Amino acid sequence: RAKQEGRNRFCFFSHDLESSLMERHHLETRLRKALINDELFVHYQPKIDLQTNIIIGAEALVRLANDEGELISPAEFIPLAEESGLIIMLGKQVLNKACAEAKRWLEMGHTIPISVNVAAAQFADPDLAGMIKKALLDHNLPAHLLELEITETALMIDAADMQNKLSELISLGIKIAIDDFGTGYSSLAYLKKFNVDVMKIDMSFVKDMLNNKHDYEIVKTIISLGKSMGLVLIAEGVETKEQSHALVELGCFMGQGYLFSRPLNSTDFEAFISQSSKCVKGINSVDE
Ligand code: C2E
Ligand code: MG
Ligand code: MG
Ligand code: MG
Repeated sequence: RAKQEGRNRFCFFSHDLESSLMERHHLETRLRKALINDELFVHYQPKIDLQTNIIIGAEALVRLANDEGELISPAEFIPLAEESGLIIMLGKQVLNKACAEAKRWLEMGHTIPISVNVAAAQFADPDLAGMIKKALLDHNLPAHLLELEITETALMIDAADMQNKLSELISLGIKIAIDDFGTGYSSLAYLKKFNVDVMKIDMSFVKDMLNNKHDYEIVKTIISLGKSMGLVLIAEGVETKEQSHALVELGCFMGQGYLFSRPLNSTDFEAFISQSSKCVKGINSVDE
């Protein structure tokens, strides 16, 4: 009986493994096809000055639809893209779309810096800096309007080597942000050596900062660390006015989150900018 149970259990795991491998294979095929046929698209989420509601930037977030037309989460396909090597092609496509979009905004009269996420595996590409330089040239986008978001975890994988790679990128004139700060294990010594410009406070701390004393203290500590290092601070996942006010009180003046806007397709983002420029001119009330 025990033997039979054991066998059943084995069958269960093996079946599970098989279906997850098939799912993985299916997703990889879908991603590969999307890359070849240029079917990936990009959504843009505004970054907001918490005191004035003015747009101070936008983050490019890649989107992929399955065969039924439903969106697949990047949290699912980015890791797969990293493991399969497809991330190099994906990263290039997203960067080029994002640069083209930021150039369009510029031509519309809006100077909005664009942030693009760069995965850890992209740093294995010796031509990363060359690819970025070419994208800026091809789209005639001033380098200071491009920011790369690199997760704290990715920065620390090979921190010593990362220092050189970051210097090469910074010499292009672009900005660097540490993404999801607080979720990795930063060595403060490296943090000081990295020449980054922006620190993004991970949304997991912002989420509960007003109901959880520990999260509040973590946010407060990250803000004071960032400030003492002279970094620009931006909070991710701001969903309520109360969070926004508390962040300003603690000295974090920029935010991104559903309170202001979800990530938008390029048409909707352009509409959002036009509306928000009225806001800057004082046609809409800035408060509430
Ligand atoms: P991330 O870079 O930290 O991006 C922020 C994520 O939080 C986005 O999820 C965004 O839609 C979501 N978000 C924004 N505001 C709120 C909010 O108020 N509440 C909540 N609950 N969520 C909010 P998304 O687009 O699903 O992306 C997930 C992750 O996938 C990103 O995290 C990033 O690590 C990765 N990713 C997305 N696009 C790219 C890309 O083009 N390249 C690379 N390498 N990674 C990407
Ligand atoms: Mg990001
Ligand atoms: Mg993040
Ligand atoms: Mg994240």
